[in-house]
This record gives sequence, structure tokens and C-alpha cells, in this order.
Amino acid sequence: MTDFRIGQGYDVHRLAEGRKLILGGVEIPYEKGLLGHSDADVLAHAVMDAILGALALGDIGQHFPDTDPAFAGADSIRLLQAVVRLIGQKGWQVHNVDATVAAQRPKLAPYIGEMRVRLADAMKIPVDRVSVKATTEEGLGITGNGDGMTATAVCLLARADG
Ligand code: MG
Repeated sequence: MTDFRIGQGYDVHRLAEGRKLILGGVEIPYEKGLLGHSDADVLAHAVMDAILGALALGDIGQHFPDTDPAFAGADSIRLLQAVVRLIGQKGWQVHNVDATVAAQRPKLAPYIGEMRVRLADAMKIPVDRVSVKATTEEGLGITGNGDGMTATAVCLLARADG
């Protein structure tokens, strides 16, 4: 029987002026971007935490500390590639991912397809195993008032030889 592990991830980043908005490795034109030590790609971060969580390997804060200058401005897609290499060394591969970004603005629908491709490429899996959804939170809370964006993700890992 194939061995599976499930993982979930959650991340939040504040929106700030003078920053690029990067979601799922895609740069999206907007008046603000997410604030963080890396490129602050909240979607890629939630996906990474889901993968790490599936194997109880902690979180990205432990693997890529925000006190380490090596990760300043880091491309989170490259960090995701590193996470996938790490689980690969342990004999695991990503089977599928389902993620949701919560943002009041801008409209993310036009960029979803490209995000799925970028994330799937980084995880070395077919794009039909990567789901990205976007929602507003009806003007409520930290995403609704435009202060930030959040993302959640679940993933299933399979033994690489399964
Ligand atoms: Mg983060």
C-alpha cells in the first residue's frame, strides 16, 4: 500500500507600499506588495508549511530564518524547490496541493493559472495536481480592510517509490 502523509499550512503577510506583490511566484500589478524578509509570497509560504508539516519537519521559519541575511528578498519559489528537494531526500514526493489565498484586492482570478504552473513546476508535479483558489473575506478582518493577505494550503505527500 502506498504510504501517504497529509499536511496543512497557513501564512499571513502585511501589505505595504513600495513592495512587489508576488503570489505563487507570479508578480501581480498592484499599488502595494506583501511585506517580509523574503519576497513574502504568502501562497508559496503556506504551501511550503503544508509540505513540511506533512513530515513533521517544523516550518519555514526554522528552515529559512528571517534573521539570516541569506534569505533577504529570497525568491520563495526557490525556497519551495529546496523544500521539495529536502522531502525527496527523505523518500517523499508531493502528490497534490490545494491552496486558498484570501485578499480583498486586487482581483486574482486572471493570475491563478500562472500561479498553478509556477508552483507545479517548483514541486515537479503536473499542474492538474495543484489547485489555487482565491477569495475575499467580505470586507472583514485583516484581509478585508486591506491590511494584509492570508493563505492556507493542504498537501498530500506520497512515498517516492509508492
Ligand atoms: Mg511567510
